[in-house]
Parts: sequence; structure tokens; C-alpha cells
Amino acid sequence: MILSGCGAPSVGDVGAVRTLFAMDTMMQLTVYGEHQEEAVDAAQAEISRLEGLLSRTRSDSQITALNRHAGDGSPVAVDPDVYSVLSLAQEYAREVDGAFDITVAPIMDAWGFVSKNYRVPSQEELARLLPLVDGEQLRLEEGGSTVQLAKPGMAVDLGAIAKGYTAGRVEALLRSYGVEDALIVLGGNVTAMGRNYSGDPWRVAVRDPLDGEAYLGILPLQDVTASTSGGYERYFEQDGRRYYHIIDPTTGLTADSGLLSVTVISSDAARNDALSTALFVMGTERAEAFWRAHGDFEMVLVQADKTVLITQGLEEGWDFRGERNGYQYEILHR
Ligand code: AMP
Ligand code: MG
Repeated sequence: MILSGCGAPSVGDVGAVRTLFAMDTMMQLTVYGEHQEEAVDAAQAEISRLEGLLSRTRSDSQITALNRHAGDGSPVAVDPDVYSVLSLAQEYAREVDGAFDITVAPIMDAWGFVSKNYRVPSQEELARLLPLVDGEQLRLEEGGSTVQLAKPGMAVDLGAIAKGYTAGRVEALLRSYGVEDALIVLGGNVTAMGRNYSGDPWRVAVRDPLDGEAYLGILPLQDVTASTSGGYERYFEQDGRRYYHIIDPTTGLTADSGLLSVTVISSDAARNDALSTALFVMGTERAEAFWRAHGDFEMVLVQADKTVLITQGLEEGWDFRGERNGYQYEILHR
């Protein structure tokens, strides 16, 4: 997603803009308000703090500690934010029937998605690793502050939820500084607070997954948050096949559901992030059924056949731009 249009809520106010690289992605904060400078500094510090807790590639993070102690029977004490992300992740995993699971880490490693030494694991290797993928084997002490992984070899990877969770924390922090208008862009997670300088909703573009220069459409967003998952962000090719960085936790294979990207829009950034990943794994049919069963979010599904499906709550204001690259769109009605 890319912001198009910029400015400040009152004419002449350019806002405080901060661009940074964290959690393995580009981030940009645009903040308006009386205390915009302090607010944007605090937001950046919060992102660094959460990255330091949630990363699994940093040797001193709490997630690294959790992974290191997998199966050794000793509970790991964690910060309330770490506990929250882990329990939300477990809750969302239950909602989507296995399509999202943060304990997919050993499979990610087998495919080389973290080391970037990409390879296609054998069926035997995947069969051996799959028993380690089980979100229910992440033990969260009831209402408490310690967590543990039940089996040796298990590991969690928060890549599919950490940015959304962080977006929610940043929004709350900005509000505590009296900020009402801001755009929080954490890679594919975009939270639109209030309005832009023209007094209009923020305009957020859905990218063409096959063309980094093009948009498929623009969504006017106000006090709502969006998350996009797409295989195109990270993949490798072998023997003419493309392998995406999103894994189906039930098979250990990379997602191959006929979707190029999924965008989820709702009021909850962490859940959006988990859902966009899960719906990408599920594919159109299951994603549509899930949407019908849950009235609390909207979505944009971009199919490999170049059909863009958008749910009816997004129809008003949707500015379709995909014709030039051969896309067409359809509205999904409830
Ligand atoms: P996202 O960009 O939010 O869809 O997250 C993708 C990242 O989440 C990957 O790079 C992995 O780190 C991790 N991941 C991949 N597949 C899954 C899955 N099915 N459930 C949870 N996390 C996943
Ligand atoms: Mg996600």
C-alpha cells in the first residue's frame, strides 16, 4: 500500500513526517497536532522497543528467549506486550482454522525464508517438522506473564502479526498525545487516523502485485486500518515455479491459493494483519465464506486471474485503477 496525497489537516501545517526502517520493512509516520514532534518521536521509540521484544532474529529479544527454551520445561517471563501478541495470535489462529499459526517458524526455516538460503524441502523433511507446528502447544500462563513452548524444536515467528500489533500500539500512543489525524504506514499495515490536510479521508492505494509501479485502486480511509499480505513481497523461484513466503501451516507448503494479495480493513490492526495472512492461505472460496461468517471486516482479494474482488462495504469511494494492467473488479455482496 502506498500513500497518495499528503499534507496537514490545517493549511500550512505540513505535519511531522518520519521515515524509518524497522521490523524488516519501510515505515512512515505522518502526524498532525499540537504535539506532533514529541508524538512522532515517541512513536518511533515505541516501534524500536516492540521490535526489540518481538524479533526472532535478534539474539536478545524475548521471542528468541522463548524459542531457545522450547521444550525444556522452564517458563519464560515476558513483557505484557509480548504476552498480548502471543495470546492474540493464539486467538486468531483458532478463528481461522489453522491457516494462521505463529509456530510455523521451523517450516519457514526449512524453506530458507529467514536465512535467505532458499530451498524446497523434501516431503519427508516437512512431515518431520509439521508436528512442531501447533499453536496450542504454546502455553500461556493464565492471565499471567510467563509463556513456554511445549516441545523441543518448536519456535514462533511473529512476522505475520507484529507490524499490525505495533500499528495499534502506535495509534494508542499518538492519541495519548492528543493526535487525531495521522497516517501510520508500517510496511503493508496502514492505519488512517482522522483526515488529511484537505479535511478528506486519507487515500490509500492497493498495489498491483505484479507491477510495483501501478495501483489497482484507491481506498478512502478514515479512522480505520488496513493490512495487505502478498506473496510478491518475498518469494524465490526454482524450476520455473514461484514460492511465496506465506506458508500453509497444515501442509508446510508455500501458499498457492490462486491469490496474489489480500487486503483486510477493519478497526483492529493486529487482527487485520493475522487475517490478511490467513485469507491469503485460504484462497477466495474460503476467504469469502469467512467474510460472510464474520461481519466485522472488509477485504480486497486480488486473484491471479486478474479479477479483483472487493466487499460491498468498500464500494463507495473505491477508485478502480486496474484497467490498464488488464484487471477487472467485482463487488462481493453480503
Ligand atoms: P504477512 O506479510 O503479514 O502476511 O506475514 C508473512 C510472514 O509471516 C512470513 O514472512 C512469515 O514470517 C510468517 N508466516 C508465514 N506464513 C504464516 C502463517 N500461515 N501463519 C503465521 N505466520 C506466517
Ligand atoms: Mg499478516
